[in-house]
Amino acid sequence: MSDRNNQAVVLNQRPQGEIQDGDLGLVNMPLRDLKEGEILIQTLWLSLDPYMRPRLNDAKSYMDPQGIGEVITGESVGRIVESRSEKFAVGELVTSYSGWQELSICSDQTESLYKVNPNGIPLQAYLGVAGMPGRTGYLGLTEVGKAKAGETVVVAAASGPVGTVVGQTAKQLGCRAVGIAGGEEKCRYVVEELGFDACLDYKSGDLLEKLKEACPDGIDVYFENVGGDVTKAVAQLLNSGARVPICGYVSAYNATSMGDVETPFHILGALAETPEHRFFLVNEWQDRHQEITQRLAEGVKSGELKYRESVAEGLENAVEAFKGMLKGKNFGKQLVHIAD
Ligand code: NDP
Repeated sequence: MSDRNNQAVVLNQRPQGEIQDGDLGLVNMPLRDLKEGEILIQTLWLSLDPYMRPRLNDAKSYMDPQGIGEVITGESVGRIVESRSEKFAVGELVTSYSGWQELSICSDQTESLYKVNPNGIPLQAYLGVAGMPGRTGYLGLTEVGKAKAGETVVVAAASGPVGTVVGQTAKQLGCRAVGIAGGEEKCRYVVEELGFDACLDYKSGDLLEKLKEACPDGIDVYFENVGGDVTKAVAQLLNSGARVPICGYVSAYNATSMGDVETPFHILGALAETPEHRFFLVNEWQDRHQEITQRLAEGVKSGELKYRESVAEGLENAVEAFKGMLKGKNFGKQLVHIAD
């Protein structure tokens, strides 16, 4: 057994609704020695992503539920501090699904383990707009949404990493980009900094009226991030031939019973003219991981792709940051800084 100390956040009990004190806990985990073909990774930056919340429930979805006592799932950027692999050397940087812990052991055969060449941009961007959420926004919009010049694209959670990339990509394609976000400050940022044509505050009421004004030609692509009342308003303005890539519906992630949730599938399926819609997962395009990452990283480097971050300091603050993100307390990509 290694003499290194490893702190980790584990699932103690399944949250009922919003995460409560004691549901997730910080523990010291013993660290075994490396086997042949394995590397030891020190986590530098941890990504907090909405999908982790449904995984804490005891319900099967596209991913198996997180087990009690297990380290919480999560992607990170880290540095290799020990290696028994011929493919990876000490000092190299990687993204991996390390989980919420300071140190993790990974086989060099792991499909989701990638070397990172920072290429002049902040490392943590590879967890945000140049990482999994960025690829999700880009591929969901272009491959499932099939957005074309002249069309109107609407996306909620517009200041987050997925929405940020959806709106900026829509603008590059020649679309009208309309964001929806919680609060005036986020909306101002989305228009003034990110360059969307409009951004609507869903928390201040009259969303349908605001949408009618911002989308005079109706909506051709609704990139679904949030579900609930936002979807109900957008659904009324979808044009004939509209496409709805269903990426997630964060408004329901803290629901006590997912079975009782009115999902986007229910809302869209009940329309007189059902738009083309499907749930998609970013790893449908795993073979394009490097190509899209590079493309988005180039955008960050040139300054063309803009973004914001919310950073929590230390693993001990990860749970509060995660709870906050599910309620929109984050402004931009939510990260946890673990080590330099
Ligand atoms: P964000 O950083 O945007 O965080 C979530 C945001 O959701 C909050 O900041 C908040 O923004 C918004 N929100 C929370 N509650 C509500 C509500 N009740 N109604 C409306 N908005 C709400 O997250 P990401 O950019 O990382 O992810 C966006 C979506 O993409 C999520 O649904 C996620 O699950 C999904 N996703 C799907 C993937 C896939 O492969 N299918 C991969 C990656 C992400 P605000 O303050 O503006 O309301």
